[in-house]
Amino acid sequence: MAGLGERQCVFCQIAQASTPTTLLYRDDSIVAFPDIDPSAFRHYLVIPRHHISTVKNLKQSTEDYELVKHMLNVGKNLLSRDAPSSQSYRFGFHVPPFNSVDHLHLHCLALPFVPRWREIKYVTLGPLPGFMEAQRCLARIKP
Ligand SMILES: [Zn+2]
Ligand SMILES: [Zn+2]
Repeated sequence: MAGLGERQCVFCQIAQASTPTTLLYRDDSIVAFPDIDPSAFRHYLVIPRHHISTVKNLKQSTEDYELVKHMLNVGKNLLSRDAPSSQSYRFGFHVPPFNSVDHLHLHCLALPFVPRWREIKYVTLGPLPGFMEAQRCLARIKP
């Protein structure tokens, strides 16, 4: 059951298809839609339909592992359909406090970054890595 905060969550509303956002994919557990402020040639978000706040709230469990694996597979399929000849792809989550919306969302990027400086938001190494690649996330929550 959704609490008050979750009912106001913009991604929960998108997941319930109660906004004009075009859904690229939808099933019982997840939905996918284009990022409203794209950072790359193609930039999609895949979110769970039930509210999970951030990557920090994912547990080392079969349920969460299968969920993230499913999100990643759907993201990969959408990008290979819509951006088959991209130079490379990136899939991952912002780590708090670098996340924008407090509803777990997988960024799915078909590069190049547009404009180029946007890459800084998706850096995985260095002193302040704000972005966790999906594969690394999966390795952490693998049961
Ligand atoms: Zn939500
Ligand atoms: Zn984000």
